[in-house]
Amino acid sequence: MSDIETGNSGSRDFIREIVAEEVAAGKHGGRVVTRFPPEPNGYLHIGHAKAICLDFGVAAEFGGECNLRMDDTNPAKEETEYVEAIIRDVRWLGFEPTRICYASDYFDRMYECAEELIRRGRAYVCDLSPEEWKNYLGTLSEPGREPPGRQRSVEENLDLFRRMRAGEFADGSRVLRARIDMASPNINLRDPVIYRIRRAHHFRHGDKWCIYPMYDFAHPLEDAFEGVTHSFCTLEFEIHRPFYDWLLEALDYPHRPRQIEFSRLNLTGVVMSKRKLLQLVREHHVSGWDDPRMPTLSGLRRRGIPAAAIRNFCRQVGVTKFDGITDMALLEHCVREELNATAPRFLAVLDPLKVTIVNYPEGGVEPLDAVNNPEDPAAGGRKLDFGRELWIERSDFMLEPVKGYFRLAPGREVRLRYGYYIKCEEAVLDDGGRVVELKCSFDPATRGGSSPDGRKVKGTIHWVNAATALSAEVRLYDRLFAVDAPGADGADFLTQLNPDSLRRITAFIEPALAESRPGDTVQFERNGYYTVDPDSEPGRPVFNRTVTLKDSWSRKA
Ligand code: ATP
Ligand code: MG
Repeated sequence: MSDIETGNSGSRDFIREIVAEEVAAGKHGGRVVTRFPPEPNGYLHIGHAKAICLDFGVAAEFGGECNLRMDDTNPAKEETEYVEAIIRDVRWLGFEPTRICYASDYFDRMYECAEELIRRGRAYVCDLSPEEWKNYLGTLSEPGREPPGRQRSVEENLDLFRRMRAGEFADGSRVLRARIDMASPNINLRDPVIYRIRRAHHFRHGDKWCIYPMYDFAHPLEDAFEGVTHSFCTLEFEIHRPFYDWLLEALDYPHRPRQIEFSRLNLTGVVMSKRKLLQLVREHHVSGWDDPRMPTLSGLRRRGIPAAAIRNFCRQVGVTKFDGITDMALLEHCVREELNATAPRFLAVLDPLKVTIVNYPEGGVEPLDAVNNPEDPAAGGRKLDFGRELWIERSDFMLEPVKGYFRLAPGREVRLRYGYYIKCEEAVLDDGGRVVELKCSFDPATRGGSSPDGRKVKGTIHWVNAATALSAEVRLYDRLFAVDAPGADGADFLTQLNPDSLRRITAFIEPALAESRPGDTVQFERNGYYTVDPDSEPGRPVFNRTVTLKDSWSRKA
């Protein structure tokens, strides 16, 4: 529930404070219009989720609108596949755009704006190469110089610009520049390029254009055309804001959006730049954009991370102007919190050791009552088949138990989850001394997990019935990088990959899991949360480990 609805203004971030003040003052008639403007040159990642939650969240809280706008003004790297993935991921995260827009659909209007700037004496065609331009730009400590061509007449500039559009000049041979101030202390205001010649095929407009607007020119216009009132972006755009405001002022544009910057999300152990994510995909370090180790929204979804956990994570991270690195443990904490409430429990044995209950009848089967989710009574219950031959976890037995180990050992008694007390009578070893089977006895009086004679056991272990269990592939995912800050200090991030980030094993699982479908997320008791991968086949599910049960964040907090 939003701060406005709860009246909880104390927890409002600085952006919501600004918006609330402007709404109260009746600016833009009290309307709020925001946008989320990804460039369709890759898949959305968890950093984008922070921006999405802000853009869509603020709009919803103030009864406003939020557009999803593809910032597709750079033809070289953009593709329809990315557009489709972006739309899917925004919806999956829980937000419905008021409109889905494309910056490239405004190319005609942008071109008109550029001609208008020329007519107003605020833009000119420049013939200098990037190398030559450096001689006029100046430095941080020195002002720039008047470049040749800056005093061209409006007529000459209009003629040259039209011929740029008509394809008369080679790529890179001319640009259109804003005519601002070569002495400005902000280098972004020293006559920045606003149009360039680039013969590239645009995925929506084909070869209609051979000149393309620069991001800094296009973005304020896109915002203005759409009636955006508040344009949120990350801190690196702060030094671009003077140009944003200059442009709309120079055009006397009647509607003036306000750009507000916030700090981007950084996460420990994660690379977030789309260029690096693309490299991981292209060079097959991962199976694709939706590999469960990727920080992309599609990867997190395939990993089993619920959208609600990501939204809650973004809420907890908050919105500030301070740059920092968020601990991955916070995201995992939010995932566990969500899944603890929602994921049904099952028993699964990942590293199996055979147990034979020697005093249980051969071929006998006995249904035991199990609870689906102790956190959610509505989740109901199911039956587990007890029998003579079981699988337990190898780590739940020690031939020579160390101090503090309360699970099974020769002569020791433990409780089987939802079942009986069993006692290890004999451990069968192979020639190499490896334990291959345990012969155990069970106490029929302890059905349900307690003994009428008051006898206590300290350990409870999980199990599955060897006669009815299904085998399933389980993919144990770990962090993709072995270091907390991949690529930092000039390191090649590809040399810092964790070689053990994926281990595939075969586990024995309760037969009830045969019904599960891709996307279902469950808890394997005492182990972790797992989700059913799309690679599953009917009756042969594949599980991805979402996260283990151990919470390192709660310990820190
Ligand atoms: P990259 O440089 O990796 O391509 P980008 O920032 O250029 O990423 P865009 O598609 O332009 O990616 O981003 C769309 C919006 O998402 C922008 O408003 C941007 O500020 C925001 N955004 C991107 N990364 C983060 C992040 N890590 N944290 C918060 N917001 C982000
Ligand atoms: Mg960008």
